[in-house]
Amino acid sequence: MTTTPLDFAVRADELDTADVLREYPARFLRSEDPSIVAYLDGNSLGRPTRATADRLAAFVSDAWAGRLIRGWDEQWFDLPLTLGDRLGESVLGAGPGQCTIGDSTTVLLYKLATGALALRPGRTEIVLDRDNFPTDRYLLESIAADRGLTLRWIDADFRGGVTAEDVSAVLSEQTALVVLSHVAYRSGYLLDIPELTEITHDAGALLLLDLCHSVGSVEIELDRWDVDFAVGCTYKYLNGGPGSPAFAYVAATHLDDFVQPIWGWMGRDAPFEMAQGYVPAPGIRRVLSGTPAIIGMIPIQDTLDLIDEVGMAALRTKSLALTEFTLELVQAWLVPLGVEISSPLDARRRGGHVTIDHPQFREITARLWDRGIIPDFRRPDGIRLGLSPLSTTFREVYAGVSAIRAELLGD
Ligand SMILES: *Cc1c(COP(=O)(O)O)cnc(C)c1O
Repeated sequence: MTTTPLDFAVRADELDTADVLREYPARFLRSEDPSIVAYLDGNSLGRPTRATADRLAAFVSDAWAGRLIRGWDEQWFDLPLTLGDRLGESVLGAGPGQCTIGDSTTVLLYKLATGALALRPGRTEIVLDRDNFPTDRYLLESIAADRGLTLRWIDADFRGGVTAEDVSAVLSEQTALVVLSHVAYRSGYLLDIPELTEITHDAGALLLLDLCHSVGSVEIELDRWDVDFAVGCTYKYLNGGPGSPAFAYVAATHLDDFVQPIWGWMGRDAPFEMAQGYVPAPGIRRVLSGTPAIIGMIPIQDTLDLIDEVGMAALRTKSLALTEFTLELVQAWLVPLGVEISSPLDARRRGGHVTIDHPQFREITARLWDRGIIPDFRRPDGIRLGLSPLSTTFREVYAGVSAIRAELLGD
């Protein structure tokens, strides 16, 4: 017996009705624009929460207009650290005093990678992979060129991700730093971090993890996994809004010796003394450089409120149910039409999105956007279906995959 489109539509509705997080999509602000049928790109830019619309307006009228410069003393000066602690506790598995918010992921990667390399003097190699997000690769190229270091590239399986064998093959006593993404931005492959941390440390090297594609969809235990450094953005699954500031984690064991290269007054000990000479602030504050982006930190707090209500375990369960349903539809409808699946079928190795490939997908993505179905395209010919566990419905998944099928069939 074959499953008809109607069966899948019914299933999607049943899954939405039975979903323990079914109330949460309504906690997000929807545009009045009826042409948006399905938003499947929450891993590039999350939707705004309803709370954020109110909180941003209140911030302008109450905090900014009302407190003026006093706001810095009362709250804003410490916000990168207090919000960092909250993020650490709610989603990163990080104890207090190790996380901060600020800059972009790219800039924080630069600061942390440079600071980490200084902790391994004499070692000359950085391990990275060809499928990592471009910004990660470019900036390590820049650091290596600047300091005469060697990049040891891993050519991981494009349809999978970096494994312990891949990393072991390039580690040596020359390795200073290993830089990896927790979830591959294209395939969605979820790396085994405890294992990778262990082999990295056995080689005497440090691990810097990019959490952009896992934070807010996958459970993370930085302290327990013994990760050295981590960065990530807040505008994907954390719904911080376009260009919201990123976060950094520096494990407590490294904090005393860690010095980052962008010496600014906000990361100096006693910044308002305006003293001569840079002395790093104690603790995680030393990661800061200039005046932090306070307005950009407001929406993050609203997503953390939602995450604290439900817990990361429930989020991960929903995320897996969404990717599972997506794969089921893709296998029934799209694989027979020549579509290939780039994402892991094994749920334990899968992050929060699904990537499928077909030679026509570049043109089809443009037509999907015209139909109000919004995934994104990733070269060479992948459609990436980003499923945000708090805001995406099974009905949206159904609408998205059936629209791709219709496009492939020329309907
Ligand atoms: C989205 C993403 C980035 C983005 O970096 P920005 O500095 O915020 O532009 C970096 N790395 C990975 C793995 C990403 O997915």
